[in-house]
Amino acid sequence: MDCLFCKIIKGEIPSKKVYEDDMVYAFYDISPAAPVHVLIIPKVHIPSANALSAENADVVSHIFVVAAKIAADLGIAEKGYRIVNNCGEDGGQTVGHLHFHLLGGRSLQWPPG
Ligand code: 5GP
Ligand code: ZN
Repeated sequence: MDCLFCKIIKGEIPSKKVYEDDMVYAFYDISPAAPVHVLIIPKVHIPSANALSAENADVVSHIFVVAAKIAADLGIAEKGYRIVNNCGEDGGQTVGHLHFHLLGGRSLQWPPG
């Protein structure tokens, strides 16, 4: 499959791993938007949040559990953080493999641009 994040999971493209288990892979974003910017992705290829269904959505709750663990490990849990999913063109999605941004380490603005 010609998917950037599938290649990162397989190690065909290098990445800075933060966490891995049998369901998910987490790694530092190549272009960080905050002092802590980690991407958490399912190991199965799901194109976007639009492709979620009762059959494949268990990974999403697992991703939130993993995000909380990573936030604690990286020392941002207490001050807080943001978990973001961009879906589709208007959502600003640029990679067609479901991913959640974990952002923290500074005060984040709301609403987003
Ligand atoms: P999106 O805009 O689709 O929500 O997020 C895609 C994210 O993937 C962006 O924040 C971008 O910086 C990151 N990204 C794109 N290519 C690579 C890469 O090759 N390696 C890593 N670590 N991050 C990438
Ligand atoms: Zn993929």
